[in-house]
Amino acid sequence: MIEELLNPWIRDLVPYSSARSEFSGRADILLDANESWEGGNDGVNRYPDPTASALRLAIEREMGLPYGMTAIGNGSDEVIDLLIRMFCAPGRDSIMIERPTYGTYSVFARTSDISVIDVPLTPSLELDTGAMLDAIAVHRPKIVFICSPNNPTGRVYPLEDILRIAKSNEGITVVDEAYADFSPDFRSTVPSIADNPRIVVLRTFSKAYGIAGARLGILVASPDVQRTFMKVKPPYNVSSLAEKAGLEALSDMARVRSRIAETISRREEFSSYLGKLPFVREVLPSEANFVLARVDDASALYDHLISNGIVIRNRSSEPMLAKALRITIGSEEEMDRLKEVFDGWRG
Ligand SMILES: *Cc1c(COP(=O)(O)O)cnc(C)c1O
Repeated sequence: MIEELLNPWIRDLVPYSSARSEFSGRADILLDANESWEGGNDGVNRYPDPTASALRLAIEREMGLPYGMTAIGNGSDEVIDLLIRMFCAPGRDSIMIERPTYGTYSVFARTSDISVIDVPLTPSLELDTGAMLDAIAVHRPKIVFICSPNNPTGRVYPLEDILRIAKSNEGITVVDEAYADFSPDFRSTVPSIADNPRIVVLRTFSKAYGIAGARLGILVASPDVQRTFMKVKPPYNVSSLAEKAGLEALSDMARVRSRIAETISRREEFSSYLGKLPFVREVLPSEANFVLARVDDASALYDHLISNGIVIRNRSSEPMLAKALRITIGSEEEMDRLKEVFDGWRG
């Protein structure tokens, strides 16, 4: 079933065979990959493990997944790009997204000459499931991207709606769960992959795990999709330094969990603070590590923050997001400083 969805040239692809993948068993002396015999620290003179198997095992253990359902990308961005190149034919196929959402889905699609069908969210920024089902029937996209919790709205969509879309979509449905950890009662789409192998879930080490600079994105997929991803990805896309950082983050889950809890409580406190400011019209309920708020004059406030050395994201040119600013939850000191600058603003 997945076979038929793949681009034919991907189906027939013979993957690059790296030096390390051509033998199995014990090796005492490695003279196979033209590496330097000396240099760097921590073994970085060697190429990394092409399968990142230690990190994948640790992720599968943490997420309670069977072996063979995960793969690692150089950030979720690389995973998104490769999924598009696996399933969509340039100049012919399309992807579908909700709008507004994370920008890279459409940028990567357009880079490969794949058209983008966007379905606006409802005025209350919910997923317009009916409109998406209609658009799927008309356009038959090869991939539908759903981001939940959505960036930049912070909204979690009902699992039932996501599953209805994934069921009626004959192509791949990618659910981007980058912010899942910040949603206390989150219901992941991961367990549904067993029933519907066309579902793919994305996770990342960039947000809750705190290592955006390491560039580690996680693909969770049925074994067919996972195997093809492993074939298509660049052989050494995960550096040994990144893999080590990922293993370190996973080895201290208590620290990750306490940072998540602190971020959530600061988000709630900051949201209620924002709601009391005279120039704030609406604070959108968020289940991510950011808050979206509508203000009287978004550009003026944005510039005022910049002139005080504080950078936030002005999202007010996006459809449905008139006058909206997106603010990431930072450290306690950073949020205190931000509040001082807000308090000094007269609009
Ligand atoms: C931040 C973010 C990611 C993470 O991307 P990485 O490439 O893994 O850093 C993925 N999806 C969404 C919606 C995001 O906002």
